[in-house]
Amino acid sequence: MFSSEDIIRFREDTEGVNHVIHLNNAGASLPPNPVRRRVVEYLEEEMTLGGYETHTKYFEEIEGTYGSIARLINADESEIALVENATVAWNAGFQAIDWKDGDVILVTTADYASNYLSYLHLQRKVNVKIEVIPNDEFGQPDIGALPLMLNEQVKMVSVTHMPTNSGLLVDAEGIGAVVREHPCIYLLDACQTVGQYPLDVERIGCDLLSATGRKYLRGPRGTGFLFASNNILDQLTPAWIDLHSAEWTGKNEYIIRSDARKFENWEGNRAGTVGLKTAVDYILEIGINNIWERILELGAYTRKRLAEIDGVTLRDIGKVKGGIVSFTVAGKTAEEVKVYLHSKGINVSWNGRANTFLDMSDRGLDEIVRACVHYYNTKEEVNIFCKALSEI
Ligand SMILES: *Cc1c(COP(=O)(O)O)cnc(C)c1O
Repeated sequence: MFSSEDIIRFREDTEGVNHVIHLNNAGASLPPNPVRRRVVEYLEEEMTLGGYETHTKYFEEIEGTYGSIARLINADESEIALVENATVAWNAGFQAIDWKDGDVILVTTADYASNYLSYLHLQRKVNVKIEVIPNDEFGQPDIGALPLMLNEQVKMVSVTHMPTNSGLLVDAEGIGAVVREHPCIYLLDACQTVGQYPLDVERIGCDLLSATGRKYLRGPRGTGFLFASNNILDQLTPAWIDLHSAEWTGKNEYIIRSDARKFENWEGNRAGTVGLKTAVDYILEIGINNIWERILELGAYTRKRLAEIDGVTLRDIGKVKGGIVSFTVAGKTAEEVKVYLHSKGINVSWNGRANTFLDMSDRGLDEIVRACVHYYNTKEEVNIFCKALSEI
């Protein structure tokens, strides 16, 4: 558990907290100062040394990024690919599967729009079937319904760990325990849980996991990674290859790499990579279990305070709720709430129906405001936010 001195130190490490009350951590977190510093230093080296020469100089640090990420999620570094964002990571895995007519994809109601759009887009080429796992009374996937749905046609179970529009933490481990018994691929969208929740790919039992750098990891924008388990790497064929993911060995011959880097391209934002490594190392140092504990506490506090405000309705679902706090305000649009709070120096964001179409439609919601807390936020900030909101 973090002490109050720890929180003071984390805030001293975060220039942004002197300027805004930042409750948009599910959009993009404020980075710690060491992350910004490393990115700037790297860019300055590129300016004076040259891009390739800087890469050579920082080779070990760049390579070390794989090990840092692997440690954070309990994977092997050969199972990590560095890519631009979570969408690229997710699709690198999804598009590498040999989809056939009749294949079934089991999905969750709170799946992220881009994921669901990819299922629909795939259906234009291949006759795959999308089946939605029903929810239980807490609004989370009903694990009891899974065994009946898992027949031979099911090629993939695709789960959004924490949806973009509610605090819900899906029981990824519970789903994994059932899916493990079946020969299908388990793809976990961990975009909102990486850096927030203690992810352990062994315990979860997922085959693929996608993540972004800028959200709860507090890394630079334009960074992300894919975890692809050694158990299934040889069954996956990248949708495209280049001279980094494959080697041209003869006029009509080539060899694709065997590790997860077969999902990378040669070119990438190396300043972003060293920034991402710095962000992950920061988390490894302070402890992901401590972070999760702090977020659970601040999230619960925020929900409690919001529930006391007339006209505010909390919209979170699920048994375990994390840092994303969703609500609506009677008589105000989400955009009005966001703009008003922004004028008071408070950053929140909002989601429309199209971001998580099934879930929002099921619940009759058009939009929700998101106030998303991270471990470096404080109860005082939450109080100021709630006071401002009550005066809207
Ligand atoms: C933000 C988000 C994504 C997409 O991440 P990008 O880095 O923008 O590609 C995917 N899934 C969930 C649940 C998200 O919240």
